[in-house]
Amino acid sequence: MSAIDLNARASATFAAKLQETTELLQQAARDHTATAAFAPPRISLACSLGAEDMVLAHLVNQLQLQAHIDIFVLETGQLHPESLALLARLKASSVAAVKVFTPESEAVLQFVAREGTNAMYKSIELRKACCQIRKMAPLARALQGKTAWITGLRREQSGARAEVPLVDTSDAARVKFNPLANWTWGDVWHFIAENKVDYNPLHDQFYPSIGCAPCTRAVSAGEDFRAGRWWWEDEAAKECGLHVKANALSDTKQHNTKATA
Ligand code: SF4
Repeated sequence: MSAIDLNARASATFAAKLQETTELLQQAARDHTATAAFAPPRISLACSLGAEDMVLAHLVNQLQLQAHIDIFVLETGQLHPESLALLARLKASSVAAVKVFTPESEAVLQFVAREGTNAMYKSIELRKACCQIRKMAPLARALQGKTAWITGLRREQSGARAEVPLVDTSDAARVKFNPLANWTWGDVWHFIAENKVDYNPLHDQFYPSIGCAPCTRAVSAGEDFRAGRWWWEDEAAKECGLHVKANALSDTKQHNTKATA
């Protein structure tokens, strides 16, 4: 059974949610419009290649917002082959520019030489250090010069995300738009089915949330949405840092100089 067969169930208010999402993307493009013709966009969609982000990439193209919004992917060097193949298809099909950010190879080499290839399983500190090198440092480069970014965060995804706002202005550096904050998992798959959105085939193998290969597994019936991410860790630690508030990050740094994500 495919992820579409299993999950595509629009909620009663789906049409209103889609309109809200559409209007928010258009507002984001208006509020952060490029400063001049041919200037690079000042707003980027952070695309993890998961179902939500493929919906948003589809909408950015469908709404013809490519002059104002580009798309970036963090290619950590640890993605599944299925994710890399989807990235190649996205780059080929998207009108909006798709930029790929990779970790600094010297930092990766030194970390692996020092801590081993499976350091992420040894401690939360080493897992976060790996995320810092492979995700957070490239993310900082991806967001350079951007006044806003767009994510596929949904409130339903986890307890930590239960209060995700549509527009998050808590970071003085840049606004974060979360246009799918109110969508259910069923809404996401309904949109994918209706619009024939390309998606990661790992979703058909019971991977609701997809990250790096060593840190993602399939989930069983009844398991939490993010149970397959860093499954060996406590629930509270399960964020890579991409969506952790700046003040939470500085608290973490104060307690542990290794854990910067
Ligand atoms: S998700 Fe896992 S492999 Fe990917 S950067 Fe974080 S620790 Fe490293």
